[in-house]
Amino acid sequence: KEQLRLDKYLADMSIGTRSEVKQYIRKGLIKVNNEIIRKPEQKVNINTDRVLYNDEEVGYATFEYYMLNKPAGVISATEDPRQETVIDLISDKKRKDLFPVGRLDKDTEGLLIITNDGDLTHNLLSPKKHVNKTYYAKIDGLVTNEDVLAFEEGVELEDGYKTQPGKLKILKSDTESEIELTIQEGKFHQVKRMFEAVGKSVTYLKRISMGTLKLDENLKLGEYRNLTEEELNRLR
Ligand code: URA
Repeated sequence: KEQLRLDKYLADMSIGTRSEVKQYIRKGLIKVNNEIIRKPEQKVNINTDRVLYNDEEVGYATFEYYMLNKPAGVISATEDPRQETVIDLISDKKRKDLFPVGRLDKDTEGLLIITNDGDLTHNLLSPKKHVNKTYYAKIDGLVTNEDVLAFEEGVELEDGYKTQPGKLKILKSDTESEIELTIQEGKFHQVKRMFEAVGKSVTYLKRISMGTLKLDENLKLGEYRNLTEEELNRLR
């Protein structure tokens, strides 16, 4: 919808709650196209009207897209009364309807897309779309070529589920090994359970890519940035 009530426009952009923004409007703090507007129900066009709050422009965003380098210790949920969520980390978000595209375990780090775009989310998560997800992991134990072959076949998890093939690349094979694993599925604890299936355990896990999107190495743990237009076009 291009036309929105002025109070909804401002509340959508987190200027305040619906009742707070109504007060700002009545107090004369809001201008539309340089004219003070005192009616909360006034319609504004999100594309052509210019809305100012305290003389600062408030642009309207229908969708927001962020790349987060998720730190360990934060949960992949939208809200939680006790624990910090990935959405809490996006401190300058405008929209209140953001969610993570899929989940990473609490102790997993790395690439997580945060958006409110349900279509993009569906395209990335639907099993039919076969989107590659690549993880870097440290493994307690010696990862061998046999594991590479087993993952190529798909492994049977402890609940009897046989996974789709995964592409395992050994970076370091030692008592503690380092690997990259690319899979298309996203079952609960999938990477950890695939290694359990070959008798080894994951001691560190980080997602480094999803589809065409790679984790930006400039992002420190807990940092995020907007997706670029180019990244977004390639993902869609
Ligand atoms: N696989 C896991 O085991 N954990 C994650 O967080 C992601 C994939």
